[in-house]
Amino acid sequence: MTSMALAATLFGPEDLRMVERPLERLAAGMVRIRFGAGGICGSDMHYFRHARTGDFVVTSPLVLGHEIVGRVVAAGGAHEALVGARVLVPAVLPCGSCDFCRAGRGNACPKQKMPGNDVHGGFATHVTLPAAPLVPLTDVPPSVDPRHLAVVADAVSTAYQAVVRAGLVAGDVAFVVGAGGVGGYVIQIARALGARVVAIDVEASRLALVAAHGAEHGVVVGDRPPKEIRKEVHRLAADWGVPSLRYRVFECSGTPKGQTLAFTLLAPAATMVQAGYCASPVELRFSNLMAFDATVHGTWGCPPEAYPAVLDLIYSGRVALAPFVEHAPLSEVNGILDDMANHRLTRRVVFDPRR
Ligand SMILES: [Zn+2]
Ligand SMILES: [Zn+2]
Repeated sequence: MTSMALAATLFGPEDLRMVERPLERLAAGMVRIRFGAGGICGSDMHYFRHARTGDFVVTSPLVLGHEIVGRVVAAGGAHEALVGARVLVPAVLPCGSCDFCRAGRGNACPKQKMPGNDVHGGFATHVTLPAAPLVPLTDVPPSVDPRHLAVVADAVSTAYQAVVRAGLVAGDVAFVVGAGGVGGYVIQIARALGARVVAIDVEASRLALVAAHGAEHGVVVGDRPPKEIRKEVHRLAADWGVPSLRYRVFECSGTPKGQTLAFTLLAPAATMVQAGYCASPVELRFSNLMAFDATVHGTWGCPPEAYPAVLDLIYSGRVALAPFVEHAPLSEVNGILDDMANHRLTRRVVFDPRR
């Protein structure tokens, strides 16, 4: 029986190595998962560069990886039934029993664990994680590559939860600032739910891709002032006959410029959701919210109970993953991080166990 895992382990800033480490003990409620596929995300890049996750400095070696699909190979305690199952590991693993979890706000659970951040992640031949929040992947249709479902753990489910948070319904207009990782899926999901979608990005190539997947109109930001873009997209919504109370603004760029632009797109009774992250502050006239009777929500991750709805959008072909994903062996993780840092990637990389 295997006793060691080969794991992409972060030792310090820009020091990530594939090393062998002993498998963790299988306590009650935990399962061991054999690596099937793992998506790499912008936050992995952030952890790699700074050896920090969130506000915490990585002081002891940490295995990265929070977008994982794998096969359960062993179970502790009551979860033997999961052995042999293919599962998706949500990027946010709520405790399941606190006030937040009971209120359906598990993605904000103060006791949540994020693999590759709070606990060892899944960029490893094996990972040990709590069984309860895992999402079994049964009935994957032949049209869907199960490896691609790794990106559901963060990119797609985060986008879905952002759309839920916005209260988006058919006939709304979605203004999506940042059409990359999460934004690309916000566009597809908003369209699938019947909204009309305007995509806004700094890169024309990203807009070309999302134009084929739900964005009816694209705006290249360039040097254009936010007020000019506001005028253009508000006029478009007016032409479509949609009042501003049905504007749903999504900030997915995680840049100060994107945040300023998204806030500028607010209008009377409109709603904005902040899905991107950046550490820098921005200056906004916050009183616009008062004057507009507008709403701004934050959004973080996605509660595991929402995953079946996300998978349904993918299984039914309403949300496509393949055009947004490419493959690489996990052993090439450092090369991929280098490509990421130098903006050589146009799609999200999903690692597989090839050596
Ligand atoms: Zn992520
Ligand atoms: Zn909880």
